[in-house]
Amino acid sequence: MAIERTFSIIKPDAVRRNLIGKILTKFEDAGLRPIALKKIHMTRARAEGFYGVHKDRPFFGELVEQMIASPVVVQVLEGEGAILKNRDVMGATNPANAAEGTIRKEFALSIGENSVHGSDAPETAAREIKFFFNDDELVG
Ligand code: ADP
Ligand code: MG
Repeated sequence: MAIERTFSIIKPDAVRRNLIGKILTKFEDAGLRPIALKKIHMTRARAEGFYGVHKDRPFFGELVEQMIASPVVVQVLEGEGAILKNRDVMGATNPANAAEGTIRKEFALSIGENSVHGSDAPETAAREIKFFFNDDELVG
């Protein structure tokens, strides 16, 4: 399988509970390498733009409020089959359905406050990386 890059967010609920290190360990243990990362506090416009694909969903307003409530960590993860691997390590969107050992099973509070975001396909990974990082920030 090819080396890929994917985009990941450690969401406000997890950052507030001081779980950055525990979550990074899950990614690193799975062979995903953070090649760029930064802590930011998203503006409303940025969060609405990022989640634009969900703007007609009933949970959109709540999702944006949660994402701007406090800082997040945005990062680029690199590794073999990184896009699917990241989704595996994250677990299902609803923590009630997430497999044992996944981030969401262990840390998520609810379907909305589910601790991590991860790109779902190569095109979204490329778009989402560009949304938060300049090329010269991807230091490998
Ligand atoms: P994922 O993050 O697993 O890719 P989606 O792309 O479907 O999931 O949804 C984006 C985010 O929107 C989820 O991670 C979660 O924070 C929120 N969300 C999704 N579905 C719901 C829901 N039914 N109720 C509340 N929030 C939701
Ligand atoms: Mg998604």
